[in-house]
Amino acid sequence: MSEHLMNTYARQPVTFVKGEGVWLWDDKGERYLDALAGVAVNGLGHSHPKFVAALGAQVSKLIHVSNNYQIAEQSQLADKLCEIAGMDRVFFCNSGCEANEASIKLARLYGHQKGIEAPEIIVMDKAFHGRTLATLSATGNRKTQAGFEPLVSGFVRVPFDDLEAVRQVAEHNHNVVAVLVEPVQGEGGVNIPHDAKAYLQGLREICDANGWLLMLDEVQSGIGRTGAWFSFQHTGITPDVMSLAKGLGSGVPIGACVAKGKAADVFTYGKHGSTFGGNPLASAAGLATLKIIEEEGLRDNADILGNWINKEFAKQLAGIAGVVVIRNAGLMIGIELDRSCGELVKKALESKVLINVTADTVVRLLPPLVISQAEAQHLVDTIAALIKDFLAK
Ligand code: PMP
Repeated sequence: MSEHLMNTYARQPVTFVKGEGVWLWDDKGERYLDALAGVAVNGLGHSHPKFVAALGAQVSKLIHVSNNYQIAEQSQLADKLCEIAGMDRVFFCNSGCEANEASIKLARLYGHQKGIEAPEIIVMDKAFHGRTLATLSATGNRKTQAGFEPLVSGFVRVPFDDLEAVRQVAEHNHNVVAVLVEPVQGEGGVNIPHDAKAYLQGLREICDANGWLLMLDEVQSGIGRTGAWFSFQHTGITPDVMSLAKGLGSGVPIGACVAKGKAADVFTYGKHGSTFGGNPLASAAGLATLKIIEEEGLRDNADILGNWINKEFAKQLAGIAGVVVIRNAGLMIGIELDRSCGELVKKALESKVLINVTADTVVRLLPPLVISQAEAQHLVDTIAALIKDFLAK
């Protein structure tokens, strides 16, 4: 690895040179099952032929023009996103943290428009929203924040999955303008509310009663991963604002802040912008991604195989001391152990499977949405055996 790269990542000693479906090949010709999909980026799998063709066609036609002009592909993607989300307007950027930055700026503007001088946003313990200054301040993990003080102010933190705590803030704090929450916490450990429907419906009611915006970070849980286009669609509510990135571009950087109703009119001319946001190439990547997910029934595959993988792990790990719980929302899968298990990442790599560990004790799997039953079986067999070995030590 070049010494000219800043030292921000604990990189594994492997260089990938080729991908196809759920498989990656390293520079020595060894094949690996990618059960991380670039951390939920690659739902279509690597080098999906229809995606490669769509991208190639766009590259030959037009890669970039400034947002000072009309961009047909961007308009089409905005229309499609609003159609499938039941929302009204989109601002395009390049990543998840930028999508959340846009949501946070939108909430503050909304507050000021209502006459609140120092608007505050409710955020959750164990949340992850990105690493720009505002989004790391919203993130509920001291490790992400440490050393970057002074943090951005204007966030009120409450425990995840606790409606009473939000109600209490509503009673005492009249500067609150919005709630920002991941419907399923990804980096925090694949945390699923104990009753996701009741939790989001409860948040929706509190927001409506207080005139707050409900803002969902679907950067990791969106674009088919949980078995619906967006995870809120399992709950019967619609948010005012939603941030997207990761899976939307299948590896081409794109982010989106999607808004509905009164929230859709908050940003006005000159209030926000991005050089690359929603350029023709990124927008074509988004359009192709959504089309392929639809054509190939990948939301159903995420639902069916996610639940199957969970059950298979439950079978293979039954009665093993040290396994706390196995949970999944579609193909967001977490296996929580009773101890720190970071070393499993390296062990899995040696077994030619890519995984990661979040919140220190949770093995996290985010395979591409195209994963087949046979590939899922290989994944479970390999990882369950590693977990058993690890816990038997
Ligand atoms: N929000 C969530 C829920 C995420 O999981 C992530 C990335 N792990 C981000 C925001 C930040 O996305 P990006 O790295 O594209 O800025």
